[in-house]
Amino acid sequence: MMRALILGGIADAGLLATEIARAGIDAVYSYGGRTRAPADQPLRTRIGGFGGVGGLADYIRREGITHVIDATHPFAAEMSRNAVEACAETGTPLIALERTPWTKALGDNWVEIGDVDAAAAALPEAPARVFLAIGRQHIAPFAVRPQHNYTLRFVDPPETPLPFAADLIVSRGPFTLDGELEMLRKQGIAWIVARNSGGDGARAKIDAARLLGLPVIMITRPQLPERKRVESIAKVMQWLGHRTCLGA
Ligand code: NAP
Repeated sequence: MMRALILGGIADAGLLATEIARAGIDAVYSYGGRTRAPADQPLRTRIGGFGGVGGLADYIRREGITHVIDATHPFAAEMSRNAVEACAETGTPLIALERTPWTKALGDNWVEIGDVDAAAAALPEAPARVFLAIGRQHIAPFAVRPQHNYTLRFVDPPETPLPFAADLIVSRGPFTLDGELEMLRKQGIAWIVARNSGGDGARAKIDAARLLGLPVIMITRPQLPERKRVESIAKVMQWLGHRTCLGA
């Protein structure tokens, strides 16, 4: 009997969960547990790490998981790597739902950089107002560039003190182009640091940067092991042997 495990945590994973529930497939939705009040899902939900590769392999065996869908954020590299190894170990088919990265459009001024430390080093020497659109667990390297005035935006208020003083916005996306233009103007932002997450929900800040002529330090995606990868929910449903009314 089929039982799918969705490794989730982003909006696309929630849309996939809706399709899977609609198709009547037995499935579990797994959250990493970083967000305090994760959105409800129409499937059985579990929250928190599995305990590395071994823990995930045990979970797959114990729960009789027959298919694993990695629908995590493209920068959730540890979870994605663990899924590749645990599925290989247990002989479980794995597919990754991975949204297309953003590509530069005419007028975009991007400095493409491999990681967060390099992004901090790429900021100018002269003090600037910087929007760090990168999530609270990644901001620490910017403490070594204290001359800048940072704006941060988190889903939840931070539970521990920030590593440096910053303007903090607490808000859950998706964000609109008008909203992003207003926020960037109000904060007087001159530089944006972002990760190439792809997708529409986070894209508005990049479009707003282009319209305002702002430079973006764009952190490229982490390298992941080879795995079956698709870009649409419809293709995941096909892989599970189900038709969907969604376009491929
Ligand atoms: P990560 O660095 O790849 O994962 C760290 C550890 O967290 C994993 O080894 C695993 O612990 C646990 N974990 C992560 N995702 C999990 C899931 N869906 N279910 C169960 N355990 C999970 O990931 P991250 O960047 O911290 O992201 C954590 C979660 O937030 C993911 O679900 C991701 O989709 C979501 N998210 C991440 C970002 C981002 O910017 N990275 C943005 C939006 C949402 P064990 O080794 O103990 O199994």
